[in-house]
Amino acid sequence: MDEHFERAEGADGWIAARNGDEWHVLGSRCRSCARLAAPADRFGCLQCGAPTEQVDFLPLSGRGTLLNAVTVFQPLIADATVPLVIGRIALEEGPVVSAQIGVEEEQLSPGMALQAEMVGASASAAGAWRFNPAEEARA
Ligand SMILES: [Zn+2]
Repeated sequence: MDEHFERAEGADGWIAARNGDEWHVLGSRCRSCARLAAPADRFGCLQCGAPTEQVDFLPLSGRGTLLNAVTVFQPLIADATVPLVIGRIALEEGPVVSAQIGVEEEQLSPGMALQAEMVGASASAAGAWRFNPAEEARA
């Protein structure tokens, strides 16, 4: 990973790449089988079993396309405030992730462009990723 970035653990288990105040979704690429993963394969490649030393970490764009979304009314995660919207998002680099969406389900449609936003980060730790509809200027 670029020397300007450092890895940070998030409250929801995701790991972020940080460059000062700038946060990026952290991905990983296996040097053995080329698997690109997000969230990153922190403990070695989940596809070929290569050890962590053969996995490179890299910051991703945080841009993606919504596949589908559901509204969750049960607090399945500790400290979760319900209702919350969870979506499946195909990142532009390829991996598909599940993450919280920042708007209500009625405002979403499959295929729309989303952008990841870091929320709840502190000076020492990442918070959580939340995806929002991408601004028109970025589309
Ligand atoms: Zn691999």
